[in-house]
Amino acid sequence: MITSAQDTQAWSKRAHDAGETIGFVPTMGSLHRGHLSLIEKARAAADRVVVSIFVNPLQFGPGEDFERYPRSLESDLEALTDRGVDVVFTPGLSDIYPLGPENTPTVSAGKIGDMFEGEHRPGHFDGVLTVVARLFQLVSCDVAVFGKKDAQQLIAIEQMVARDGLPVRILRGDIVRDDDGLALSSRNVYLTPEGRAHALILHRELNAIRDATDPLERINQARDTVREAPGVELDYLEAVSGDTFTPWRDNPTGEMVVVGAIRVGTTRLLDNVWLGIDTASRTGPADGAQ
Ligand code: AMP
Repeated sequence: MITSAQDTQAWSKRAHDAGETIGFVPTMGSLHRGHLSLIEKARAAADRVVVSIFVNPLQFGPGEDFERYPRSLESDLEALTDRGVDVVFTPGLSDIYPLGPENTPTVSAGKIGDMFEGEHRPGHFDGVLTVVARLFQLVSCDVAVFGKKDAQQLIAIEQMVARDGLPVRILRGDIVRDDDGLALSSRNVYLTPEGRAHALILHRELNAIRDATDPLERINQARDTVREAPGVELDYLEAVSGDTFTPWRDNPTGEMVVVGAIRVGTTRLLDNVWLGIDTASRTGPADGAQ
């Protein structure tokens, strides 16, 4: 385990000097099988693997769950044994923000930062990109893996890498789910058994959309079903472009992703399905056929 920025930089330099590539998986801890699947992907793509655990205050808004976000370093370290992880980087606040979070200029997410999650959590993606950029700088990773579970975050990071010319390749990790279908999330611990049962409606409706002959049409029905379901509040349910995260109807490019967010009590849960349909395999609207 490495806790300081300097030691991480020194370790990375040694690895690169030895001709090794570095794969990186940033997390906020409270590790589950979703995180472990990203680690496996990083191992397959690079010689060495670094996992970071840091609960980033900059990505939490006022009144959000920064204080009560689950922290479990001991069991996290246990979960990481025998996983082929070379370094667990657990920085302190001053390693990431030497000037303090409030004096740190944030990296702007641009337009994507104001949509969907960004509309509900102003400044969230600027906070995410700020920490990710800093971690990339410290770890000097060649490859970094992010989960499709947080599709908007993943695409915002891809956009930052392209825009700022960061020398890192981003890999997309598939969503890992519990047996009942609920996408694994560190925040699932907030759910009561009843809340959890209610939360499954989003997963069920996303599957129905995925399997429908006309997914776009099916989304309207799914929205009504979730709105009428007990114990959940719908924030959004929408088809977006897997390239740009803009609404599919405005920009049907890349793979279609149907993204949803619900609230179960005070817990916000995200889920999505990637439809495996892209513009190349469809008769696209460019032909006027859709
Ligand atoms: P977090 O610790 O929540 O910041 O997540 C760290 C990384 O794990 C992010 O890239 C997430 O997208 C990813 N992740 C979270 N949940 C899952 C999941 N159920 N399956 C795959 N990846 C996930």
